[in-house]
Amino acid sequence: MIQEYQVRVLPQVAANEQSLRMWLADEYGFDVRTVTSVRILRRSIDARQRTIFVNLKVRVYINEQPQADEFTPVEYLDVSGKPQVIVVGAGPGGLFAALRLIELGLRPIVLERGKDVHERKKDLSQITKTQQVDPESNYCFGEGGAGAYSDGKLYTRSKKRGNIEKILNVFCQHGASTNILADAHPHIGTDKLPRVIENMRNTILRCGGEVHFQTKMTRLILDGNRVVGCLANDKEYHGPVILATGHSARDVYRYLAESNIEIEAKGIAVGVRLEHPSMLIDQIQYHNKQGRGKYLPAAEYSFVTQVDGRGVYSFCMCPGGFVIPAATDKQQIVVNGMSPSNRGGQWSNSGMVVELRPEDIEGNDALRVMHFQEELERNCWQQGNMRQTAPAQRMADFVNKRLSYDLPRSSYAPGLISSPLHFWLPQAISHRLQEGFKQFGKSSHGFLTNEAVMIGVETRTSSPVRIVRNNDTLMHVRLQGLFPCGEGAGYAGGIVSAGVDGERCAEMCAAYLES
Ligand SMILES: Cc1cc2nc3c(=O)[nH]c(=O)nc-3n(C[C@H](O)[C@H](O)[C@H](O)COP(=O)(O)OP(=O)(O)OC[C@H]3O[C@@H](n4cnc5c(N)ncnc54)[C@H](O)[C@@H]3O)c2cc1C
Repeated sequence: MIQEYQVRVLPQVAANEQSLRMWLADEYGFDVRTVTSVRILRRSIDARQRTIFVNLKVRVYINEQPQADEFTPVEYLDVSGKPQVIVVGAGPGGLFAALRLIELGLRPIVLERGKDVHERKKDLSQITKTQQVDPESNYCFGEGGAGAYSDGKLYTRSKKRGNIEKILNVFCQHGASTNILADAHPHIGTDKLPRVIENMRNTILRCGGEVHFQTKMTRLILDGNRVVGCLANDKEYHGPVILATGHSARDVYRYLAESNIEIEAKGIAVGVRLEHPSMLIDQIQYHNKQGRGKYLPAAEYSFVTQVDGRGVYSFCMCPGGFVIPAATDKQQIVVNGMSPSNRGGQWSNSGMVVELRPEDIEGNDALRVMHFQEELERNCWQQGNMRQTAPAQRMADFVNKRLSYDLPRSSYAPGLISSPLHFWLPQAISHRLQEGFKQFGKSSHGFLTNEAVMIGVETRTSSPVRIVRNNDTLMHVRLQGLFPCGEGAGYAGGIVSAGVDGERCAEMCAAYLES
């Protein structure tokens, strides 16, 4: 017999299958010895009250064996000799596009400017050692894209559950824990992502696709208004092009603008990374001086408000994680955050950002939001002594417009330097952050504190440009055979939404080839 239950239990009951089994047997009156397995289908934490509960949807197998796979595996076909499609960029958008092309019987040729996911890791550690960023291999460029050494949070605001489940299933098929299918806030973790990405690449290769690293696309090949391929490392690749180059490929945006290929400015959000001791966030969120205890994960938070007509909000929160240098060029500082799968670090961070609309910047240049981003990142680098040491300020000092005499310890490996962020951040951002922090401090006692440090600057929250496409065909508005895809095209804002968009672009590309 198989039974499903919706239950609300204490964290120590939810902590392992044995205690959950005992609790279920007791609650529903069956013999615990007959329970062969308990599968968790949904899991979320309710921390609104002093007593914390875990809400679970469980499937109980009584005198019955569970199915072997908790996910639905996708069948990938051999596509050797099939029509080819060029996928530029091996981030989540490009990888999911390539895998979906294979499902549809097409042969993906993936071109990626950076290195494979393991080689890339060496360049990341060099950032701290040498204080230099390699413009072709960094936290945004290389196999897996910005999604590889990211936090690996897999939740999205998108409502299309079916599409999201497909993405999560594909991740599980390539080695991610099946916990991601159950958790309300699924998370893979930066320590686990590289192996999953490598497995995805191996599926592409095994099925007859190609993946070329250190291969940078520099221009498209056009036949009238039709894209018939692209040029990368002076070699021509032929086929329709899925352009999934991410939000940091500024050379791609420049090339598109110079070539009069239709793009438009898009709003982003700009601010800082805010880092607290994770114990403090646990104490606040779990209403307990002892912190999270043995059975709860590092606590999350989410804040949002409006100040002077613009949103101010927390972004990409990383409990028990670290702040990382995410610049893609030498004279920039850009920060971001990530966390390992156990979220066991001493600090918890999040982006604290202010909405920036294209109309907030003078002019009508399609690249104006990108130029604003660039200028702020360069200014930040100058404030940071022209190294990757990031300018930082204690949170309460920032609100009170005081320079911090010293800084707390931080997870940011290249180091921090005390700097008056309240003074040099653009006024429209610093003022709104100050007001936002005051409101967050009121609603969450202890959050606004000098134990927290703000680290500048968080600018790569999404793409500053949209590569305009047709909503129905997902093709560029003018150029046939060009499918702008994922975050860089301005149609996704995270790993899952980029994956979903990659799959949709592959489907539309298949329809285009059939027409
Ligand atoms: C540190 C960090 C943490 C993050 N944490 C999360 C998180 O927890 N959850 C979440 O949902 N999102 C997170 N994100 C955002 C997420 O990674 C992106 O939204 C997602 O990766 C976008 O996917 P994409 O495929 O569209 O673009 P990208 O991942 O940016 O991939 C683009 C790829 O294209 C390549 N490329 C660029 N130009 C060229 C060219 N000319 N030729 C060939 N290749 C090129 C790049 O090297 C890159 O590999 C994080 C990002 C960072 C940096």
